[in-house]
This record gives sequence, C-alpha cells and structure tokens, in this order.
Amino acid sequence: MRIEEELKLDFQDVLIRPKRSTLGSRAEVDLAREFVFRHSGRRYSGVPIIAANMDTVGSFEMARALARHGMATALHKHYAEDELAAFFTALPADATVFYSMGITSDDYEKFRRVEARCGEAITHVCVDVANGYTKAFVDFLHKLRDAYPKLTLMAGNVVTGEMAEELILDGADIVKVGIGPGSVCTTRKMTGVGYPQLSAIIECADAAHGLGGLICADGGCTSAGDLAKAFGGGADFVMLGGMLAGHDESMGEVIERGGERKMRFYGMSSRAAMDRHAGGVAHYRASEGKEVLLDCRGPVEATVQDILGGVRSACTYVGARKLKELSKRTTFVRVARQLNEVFGQS
Ligand code: 5GP
Repeated sequence: MRIEEELKLDFQDVLIRPKRSTLGSRAEVDLAREFVFRHSGRRYSGVPIIAANMDTVGSFEMARALARHGMATALHKHYAEDELAAFFTALPADATVFYSMGITSDDYEKFRRVEARCGEAITHVCVDVANGYTKAFVDFLHKLRDAYPKLTLMAGNVVTGEMAEELILDGADIVKVGIGPGSVCTTRKMTGVGYPQLSAIIECADAAHGLGGLICADGGCTSAGDLAKAFGGGADFVMLGGMLAGHDESMGEVIERGGERKMRFYGMSSRAAMDRHAGGVAHYRASEGKEVLLDCRGPVEATVQDILGGVRSACTYVGARKLKELSKRTTFVRVARQLNEVFGQS
C-alpha cells in the first residue's frame, strides 16, 4: 500500500484569479478552436463543448440544436442502425457529431454496418468504457485505428497522465478524462475509485499535449464557471451530461410528480439504464449510476447562451481574446469557500 500525499483538486477547490486586460467586452471573445487531429489528420473548427453520449443528452435533436452554435454531440449508442444511417447521411459537413460505441463485438459489427451505409459521413467516433485501463480496451482501440485510419477517435475514460499517453500512442486523437465526477455517477461510492477532476484534467492535458494529443474533460461540470476552470486547466474539449439534461432536446421521459412535470435522467450504468437496454442488472455487477427527476427546462437554447456567456466572461476576466489563450492566462487560487449561499444554492 502507498499513499500519495500531494493534494489533488476538484473544481470547487479553486477560483480563477482575474488579470489585467485590454479586452473591452465579452463580445470580443472567440470561443471557437481549431485543431488538426494527431492520427486522423482531420481539421476541426468549432466551439469545443460536447453533449455526453447518455440516453437523454446525446440525442439527434440535441445534435441539431448544438450544431447551430458550433458545438458538438456524442450520440448515445442505443439508436437503431436505420436511424443512425439516416441521421449521418443528412448531417451538414461542418457539424461535429460523434458516433459512440463500447468495445463488444456487437458494438463493432454494428458500427461497421452503419459506417458502410454512410460512407464518409461518419468522421468522429467516441469509444467509451467506464474503465479505460483494461487491455481489452487498448486492444480494441488498436483494431479500430488499424481498420479506420481517417476516423477521429475519442477514447476513455482515464484520469492519469501515463494512461492518457498510452491511449494516444494506441490511436486516440482525444482522450476522455474523468472517473467518478459525473452528476448521476455513483462509482466513487460503490467502488472507492476516482480522482479529483481538475487535477485529472491538468495532469492528463499535460501528458497528452506532450504527444500532440488532445483531451476531453468529461463529467463534474455544474455551472459555466466549471467549464471555464476545465478549459483553464488545459482541457481541449469539455463534455456535459447533467447541464444539458432536462431540456426539450434531451428527449427524456416526462412524468408527473406532485403536480409538476419532471424529466427522468439517469446514469448509463444505473439500474434504470440497464433495465431499459440490457434487461436488468447482470448478477456480477452493481449499478454505478443513479436516476434523478429534473425540472423540465424548456429549449436548450437559453442554457447554451448561459454557458457560452459565462465562458466568454471568464475569458475577459483574464484577458483571453480567444478560448485557446485561456489556459495560458489561468492562475488558480485554492479556496476554502467559493460561493455565498445565503439565499440558496442557485
Ligand atoms: P455530468 O456532466 O453529468 O456531471 O457527467 C457526465 C458524464 O458522467 C458522462 O459523460 C459519463 O462519462 C459519466 N456517466 C454517465 N452515466 C454514468 C454512470 O451511470 N456511471 C458512471 N460512473 N458515470 C456515468
């Protein structure tokens, strides 16, 4: 047994220190980024915020709504082949949408069939497992990269620099970072495993960038300020689940509770998800996600405006004219308290 004594940080442990700046208004801030991916060689241009590949977040409707702002979506993996083929073949060329899959042979065969029907229309793929440290995952990544050299691959999840490097060398263009921080995730409680998300981002970004790779900070953002901290810590992309749930475009089931309309939102390895997609929780595994009921929040447009406005404003506080400059201009201060909650938490 070994203990690492160095303090690791979550979003709530820090604030971004303001810096002198010549920027007049947040309207001058450009949130778009451009990348050339290490393996696929493809060019990317867009606002690097991605809707999570969860049942009631990564929908076709969400993808269309976010694409209007240059934002991306990772589709959930439960759409039928016909639906996926129809969606991708009609997708405008400048929209960034990730096809998502796990690492089973069924996942792979389904992808091969859909890809064959869509031709060049699928350009981004998200290979997603709860634990990105397994040999089976690494082997799968090699197989996929060898078969599809021109696909942009995002793969995860991991939380440490050495594994971020490994995945990039195995063929990932973007490493997805986060174990346990999610809003409907119970991994930390069920297993005791995890890593404070801001430190995971800082360490994995440093490792990935050293090899010309990129990272996507996945999970734990509860406000626009958390996205600013994730980008400030070095994230190239940020993935959002809970912040985009509960909207019209989330396509979640709406039920009535106590006279109010609520939308179901659940973790992808929760009992609710496994009941829906896998006929119940398998006997050897525990559920590592939970279900919550959210207020119905209407169209996602207003939330998107809030998020983009908040990140733009963070950039003006540190003098970053472009999102790209935010991490260079970020100094975090460790805090014992960050919000005044005298009138509640919102
Ligand atoms: P959020 O933005 O809601 O805080 O986090 C979203 C992320 O939580 C997802 O992108 C995914 O990585 C993770 N996640 C989703 N469902 C589950 C689950 O059931 N269990 C765990 N451990 N993580 C989940």
